[in-house]
Amino acid sequence: MGEFELIGRLFRPLAEITRQEGVLLGPGDDCAIQRVPAGHDLVFSVDTLVEGVHFPGQYDPARLGWRALAVAVSDLAAMGADPVCYTLALTLPDADEAWVAALVSGLREASLAFGVALAGGDITRGPLTLTLQVHGVVPEGQGILRSGARPGDLVAVTGPLGGAAAALEWLDDPQPPSSVSPLLDCYHRPVPKIDTGRRLRGVASAAIDISDGLAADLGHILEASGVGAWLEAAAIPRRYGIAEASLEQALYGGDDYQLCVTLPSPALPMLPGDVSKSLHVIGEIRSAEGLYLQHPDGARELLTTGTGYDHFKTE
Ligand SMILES: [Mg+2]
Repeated sequence: MGEFELIGRLFRPLAEITRQEGVLLGPGDDCAIQRVPAGHDLVFSVDTLVEGVHFPGQYDPARLGWRALAVAVSDLAAMGADPVCYTLALTLPDADEAWVAALVSGLREASLAFGVALAGGDITRGPLTLTLQVHGVVPEGQGILRSGARPGDLVAVTGPLGGAAAALEWLDDPQPPSSVSPLLDCYHRPVPKIDTGRRLRGVASAAIDISDGLAADLGHILEASGVGAWLEAAAIPRRYGIAEASLEQALYGGDDYQLCVTLPSPALPMLPGDVSKSLHVIGEIRSAEGLYLQHPDGARELLTTGTGYDHFKTE
């Protein structure tokens, strides 16, 4: 048995602990088998995280495990899907058992928190990279797309923005002030908005999770829907306890993993109290193209939507 097969054994308890009824067959065969309940659609997505690109070098492996799964599941939340299972392709520079055990502990915590089971995986040698494919289900035809926003719809987000960007300057600080710990949590332990996404099925006209910044991600909705929007600067939530992200960080910072949704305004008061309370209305969809920001002094600014993270951008 090779060293990587031995490492693979560390994942087996994870698959057992997180077993889900939708997974008929987990790791150990040529493929896993998932049963999609009658009247449901399978929703799936793949995400790759590369060391030094998507997470810092020497990043804590337990935090990496949580973050990798949270980020992947966040895409399911954005579709209004219920998470079911995931596969993990792990590329490691060496077979460091302690490091992998810590990674598994982070994955385990996140798997249990989000109700998503490890269904299979693969380990190879190379530069540290994690690829996660997540599978979820939605009732037939109810996946929330980016393309459904209509003029007059409200634009809302599920929580404060810019926290992960504001945390960046504290990542290397061994003793950051306690006031910034909500910012650091936002970076290290993002929580996908699964329940809100699920409860917005049939209500939200469009949704996206904010991974690349509000302007860029809302920009994707506007483009897919063929509409524009205006936002009210003062309405964009960015407080984390006593810490606050800047407007710039809230608009252009990535890694927040809140949802940005659009919904017809009559739908808002019809939502259950806890769902409507979790939505912060920040603007409105307009038929004229362009994303505009209204400042408290009345000034109107045209935002650039293309400033989100782009791996292939050349300066
Ligand atoms: Mg996404």
